[in-house]
Amino acid sequence: MGKKRAQSPPRSAEPTPAAAEGEAAASSSQQPVEPPKEPTPPVEVFYCAICFFPLEYCEFGSSLTRCKEWLKEEREDLYDKYYSEEALQTKIGTLSLEGQKKLEKETAKKEAKAEAKADAALKKKMASQVTIRRIERTKRKHVTAIHGLEAFSIDLKKAAKQLAGRFATGASVTKNAQGLDEIVVQGDVSDEILEILEKGEGVLKGVPIANVEVVEDKKKKDGQ
Ligand SMILES: [Zn+2]
Repeated sequence: MGKKRAQSPPRSAEPTPAAAEGEAAASSSQQPVEPPKEPTPPVEVFYCAICFFPLEYCEFGSSLTRCKEWLKEEREDLYDKYYSEEALQTKIGTLSLEGQKKLEKETAKKEAKAEAKADAALKKKMASQVTIRRIERTKRKHVTAIHGLEAFSIDLKKAAKQLAGRFATGASVTKNAQGLDEIVVQGDVSDEILEILEKGEGVLKGVPIANVEVVEDKKKKDGQ
């Protein structure tokens, strides 16, 4: 043990707080120490999160009601700019009453149509079946064919690649006997694929497991 320091703490070259204060006071006003966190953004076009058009164009889409709901929630100031009584008055001031009614009717019709379409698409998706088929090629060799994934917006090529990597085996997209695309994986991996779909791994996500069916194709014994 050798060095003993002097009792008083070492002073650096920095000015003491008092000195700093004095300096600040000297340089005129009391400015906030931190700079403003976010600079004012430049004027930009706002896009609607519902229809993805610039806000001015929502009315030409088929989801105006939802667009308006969203905007009111997100940016009430902009909502007022476009949809307040005042804004609407200015805008439709030139339209006749009949014209206004017609416009409203058309909008409602368009919206109903779009909603029906979205409904139908959802129903179709929910009714779509994915089949994992375990196919016996020879006594010992199997392949696993997966059909119907595209209904759930899954890219078949990417899915095949993922499965090939996962099982370190061959996997490809081919047309089945009905002329429909399916993924064929070498080996019997049907249980594993079911599990992957259940967990929604990688690109293989978004398939409700209730829509997946595992079936077995035994080699026909009629030749014997
Ligand atoms: Zn919109």
